[in-house]
Amino acid sequence: MYMRFSNLMASVLVLITVWFPSAAEAKKLNIVTATTDMAALAQEVGGDKITVESIARGYQDPHFVEAKPSFLLKLRQADLLISVGLQLEIGWLPPLITQSGNPRVQVGANGYLDASQFAEILEIPTGQVTRAMGDVHPLGNPHYWLDPDNGRRVAKGISEKLAELQPSDQAYFQQRFQDFDKRLTAAEKVWDEEMKPFHGRKLVTYHRSWPNFAKHFGLDVVGYVEPRPGIPPTPSHTIELIQMMKRDNVKVIVVEPYFDLKTPNSIAQAVGGKVLVLLPSVGGEKQVTDYFKLFDYDIDLITKAFKSFAQ
Ligand SMILES: [Zn+2]
Repeated sequence: MYMRFSNLMASVLVLITVWFPSAAEAKKLNIVTATTDMAALAQEVGGDKITVESIARGYQDPHFVEAKPSFLLKLRQADLLISVGLQLEIGWLPPLITQSGNPRVQVGANGYLDASQFAEILEIPTGQVTRAMGDVHPLGNPHYWLDPDNGRRVAKGISEKLAELQPSDQAYFQQRFQDFDKRLTAAEKVWDEEMKPFHGRKLVTYHRSWPNFAKHFGLDVVGYVEPRPGIPPTPSHTIELIQMMKRDNVKVIVVEPYFDLKTPNSIAQAVGGKVLVLLPSVGGEKQVTDYFKLFDYDIDLITKAFKSFAQ
């Protein structure tokens, strides 16, 4: 009888919690991010004081995202919108922001955070950018989150923004960042060690998604399957690329999961090389559920590939 009573009490308590969220829970910051990587970093520092959802899926090309109408509703209720910036989302995010009608997340408002301001940015073009150059981002390469040091900088920036929006949880966000920083530093030691034997290795990538990754891990990206950023492969460019790869003994071709493998496969065949589908984003594969697993996944694949081609 006593047991049954306590079971009943437990159920009642559960019901109460479900029906009447506590004051702390009610104060969760409602965050929408453009991409999964920003969501993963926000989750690291926001913990259970936030809810966060990404508009783009991790397996989608972040330059071209068709947002579901349900995201307008989410954006309408958001306290904070985090974008990658540097015009990565220029093709799809601005109309969503406008249509949301949410004054908090408009560009320049307090609830709009362009994370690129915290990161080290590579490939900032000098001189004039023209259409002939392809989809060159005039503000620099927006794929900066693939350097873990940029992940750390962005996480810090997000934690400070969260503290600004919810000062009562400032210590919590600070603590979460310090913990993330520690775990990232430990993970970086392992990754750096794994990549060390392959310093200076040359590779080709489909799109210019990897300059920050390459810089951090000492790799040398010597060519691209795209003749120019955002422009699909052409036969003449592909032939030149194959000649260069043969001459310089380049064997590894890294492709993002949303590109067609036909040209990369034919290049690999021509040079006796290998196509590697690496993930530029958290969620690119089901098991890649956080920022750490993204690097675990990519480094595992790329080190195996380099090992299979002695240099
Ligand atoms: Zn790009």
